[in-house]
Amino acid sequence: MSIAYAGFTITRVPMLTDNYAWLVGHDGASAFIDPADAAVAIEAVDRQGGKLDYVLLTHHHDDHIAGAAALAARFGAALVGNAADAARLPALDMAMNDNESIAFGGSTLKMITTPGHTSGHVTYLFGDAIAACGDTLFSLGCGRMFEGTPEIFHTSLHRLATLAPDTMLLCGHEYTLANARFARSVDPDNEALMARARVVEKLRAAGEATIPTRLADELLTNPFLRAQTPEEFARLRAAKDRF
Ligand SMILES: [Zn+2]
Repeated sequence: MSIAYAGFTITRVPMLTDNYAWLVGHDGASAFIDPADAAVAIEAVDRQGGKLDYVLLTHHHDDHIAGAAALAARFGAALVGNAADAARLPALDMAMNDNESIAFGGSTLKMITTPGHTSGHVTYLFGDAIAACGDTLFSLGCGRMFEGTPEIFHTSLHRLATLAPDTMLLCGHEYTLANARFARSVDPDNEALMARARVVEKLRAAGEATIPTRLADELLTNPFLRAQTPEEFARLRAAKDRF
């Protein structure tokens, strides 16, 4: 599946059970995000022209990095990740810091830190059009808080919430149907959420993906993104863990 968006080409690459990896292109530049399975990733790059400049890693979990070294080697791509978490990532060719950006085709590629799921989790921004947010933010949900505090995670979600509303979010998993059930239980009077949940049920019943999702839609429907305080976020996260 490829879509054209704001001058970018976005290709969703499903792998493992419910992971999504992503291939993003702009004016001849290309980047692959979170390749868990090298063989699947290589096939996807070959289908899109067989050229790859960057392999971007959002965080150190195996289901996001396992295929990274082999994919980068196959196409001579640079392996890119968070400098502060480099010890837990495959050997990086380019270690980036918070707010650092590089040219990407006719646009830019910027890394921002979004800790909470893991302490070194980052999000990659393509221009002001796309955010590859890994396991920080899901559609109607967010990642589990393995290495953060509610304050840290809430700050990261707020950082994503203040991006351009039309930003397309490339999330790391297809968890939306289960997330919708929880979201409806904590925000039953939210009309936008009810409408989104119906769309998600239809898509999943037809075996179709619910990601990418638009930030503006998540701002209306995602309880974790809508939490006003770290305390509210903490209550929601704990409730979801037990749901
Ligand atoms: Zn993870």
